[in-house]
Amino acid sequence: MVHLVGAGPGDPELITLRGLQILQTADVIAHDQLIAPELLNSAKSTAIRVPARTLASGIDPLLAQIHEQIVAHAHAGRSVCRLKGGDPFIYGRASEEIDALEAAGVPWEVIPGVTSALAAPAMAGIPITDRHLASTATLVTGHESGTKSGRAVNWAALAAAGGTLIVLMGVATLSQTAQRLVAGGRSPSEPVAVIERATWPDQRVTVGTLADITERAQQIGIESPAVIVVGPVVHSINRKPL
Ligand code: SAH
Repeated sequence: MVHLVGAGPGDPELITLRGLQILQTADVIAHDQLIAPELLNSAKSTAIRVPARTLASGIDPLLAQIHEQIVAHAHAGRSVCRLKGGDPFIYGRASEEIDALEAAGVPWEVIPGVTSALAAPAMAGIPITDRHLASTATLVTGHESGTKSGRAVNWAALAAAGGTLIVLMGVATLSQTAQRLVAGGRSPSEPVAVIERATWPDQRVTVGTLADITERAQQIGIESPAVIVVGPVVHSINRKPL
């Protein structure tokens, strides 16, 4: 059996009880890169570790190899905990892993995790929905290239629909995103927050507007991983000391 376990956004205390139980008892831990060492240390001392990568871009040449290793361990009767950042099903490329497991006849189960898409705004004191400010919140990838027909993000529609936008994998394309949203009708003064390394001790929150967030981000050197939140709810940030 392979368990796809959501490790949460970073802080080791933000894994679920069920996820922790599986981690503590698994024979094999196949883990993403950005997993807190404290979490990994809670595995059995005899547990075999398989470092894995989930790349946002391109094909990871190691991924097929990792699938093979996971399948081989499962076939050998070992319990495998596939520990993935945040929630396994949110931009986690889990379907590729599940395809490999199903093709090999390995049973699997997913244990949801606290996604950075929700944890990052929360940690910055931003409620993504608010009775007065936003009735919807949409998850978007900043990484989806416009060349893949049918899968490209329709930024104009997202701009027009209003509501809160939560952009993952969006640091490199921040300026394009801001421009497209303004071109689609969002006000240049619409507030934006960029939350880097949410829930880690060095979490950093930068606030600006669609008009100036790119410059701010460049000035202070914003880096991935970060969650970008766009919409009036970002104003609520003032309700809570950062
Ligand atoms: N499955 C993960 C997301 C994987 S995609 C989840 O549910 O959280 C990777 C993206 O997640 C990053 O580019 C970044 O946008 C976001 N991310 C992951 N951890 C983060 C963190 N601690 N702080 C801010 N953003 C994070």
